Amino acid sequence: MRITDVRTAVIAGNFDWVLVRIETDAGITGLGEAYWGAGVDEIVHRLRPGLIGQNPFNVALLYEKMVREMSGAGSLAGATVTAISGVEIALWDLVGRALKTPISTLFGGRFRDKIRIYADCHAGREHTPAAYAEKARQVVAKGYTAIKFDLDVENPHTRDISDDPDPRRPWYEPYNRTISTAERAYMVSLVAAVREAVPPEIMVAMDCHWKYNVPDAIKLAQDLEPYDLLWLEDPVPPENVDAQAKVSASTRTPICTGENLYRKHGYRELIEQQAASIIAPDIPKMGGLLEAKKVADHADTYYIPIAPHNVASPIGTVAAAHVCAAMSNFLVLEFHAQDVPWWDDLVQGEGPLIRDGYIALSDKPGHGLELNEDVARAHLKPGTAFFGDGR
Ligand code: MG
Repeated sequence: MRITDVRTAVIAGNFDWVLVRIETDAGITGLGEAYWGAGVDEIVHRLRPGLIGQNPFNVALLYEKMVREMSGAGSLAGATVTAISGVEIALWDLVGRALKTPISTLFGGRFRDKIRIYADCHAGREHTPAAYAEKARQVVAKGYTAIKFDLDVENPHTRDISDDPDPRRPWYEPYNRTISTAERAYMVSLVAAVREAVPPEIMVAMDCHWKYNVPDAIKLAQDLEPYDLLWLEDPVPPENVDAQAKVSASTRTPICTGENLYRKHGYRELIEQQAASIIAPDIPKMGGLLEAKKVADHADTYYIPIAPHNVASPIGTVAAAHVCAAMSNFLVLEFHAQDVPWWDDLVQGEGPLIRDGYIALSDKPGHGLELNEDVARAHLKPGTAFFGDGR
């Protein structure tokens, strides 16, 4: 079997979902997805000539070939790795379909048939304890057993000093990475409200989006210890593993990070320094399914769980779920599209993919999903082609 074409379709979801279709001379196709990013679909087209004529079964070789071909253009990290991830996922789907085998079987089989999903939650524009509590109750009522909220939000104490220089009012500076005492107390009140709104068995995580300095992150994490969070995500910027390690070692609150890292090399220091309690690779961004499995196995030698970051369409999400099934140390997978009512409609099927907070994996070949082309066309990113051939 030989690859005859590589095509893309960019769907305008809550992020751009860059779908990648690989075609073969056997008539079998594979469908993958890359994380959003400027130029990602363009990079997939740059990869196309090196893929045409190749044997799609040699997924690891083709991954390495793409990384090496693009090394000068930036395959250490960033959009190039993201584009490669979309191709890689399409190749695994193709191989699964050719062998009539689910992707999870290709990765060693399943530790679990149902993948626990956590709901990323937004409580509207009002970042009040009451709004957070209400949203938490709504989402748990849908059956989710794990939820996440943003903690680095505007609140009565996060008034930008450049907009409101009255020193008698609460203020903050947006770039100096500090958390004021009042701001920290407000953040704790948000967590307390969510924790009290849902039963104790519901797992609650909080995200800080890389905002704070080390001592303030430690104070925040320690003040949150009574709430037994599933994790506190990205309290400090992602570049400095020594800083991550210091925060992680200073608190009982588990620290989660990893969505900004790429390829197995990007995770090496984080894992080997045990600088995070939980690692969150974004699978359609960091290198794809096999690279994520390698990171998970490396993390498992330090008994570190994996909780993949995920903002994908059903294609990227379910492909990720297949490799999550094959990771012994999988914890929970993100769902970030609660506000996209047609998320399920993008693929053919009967009803929602996520039921009672889980994705139940099918035994269909590949990832098992078929694109609903009418819905995909209806939400095509303006100005882009629907699986047009290499431009
Ligand atoms: Mg995050």
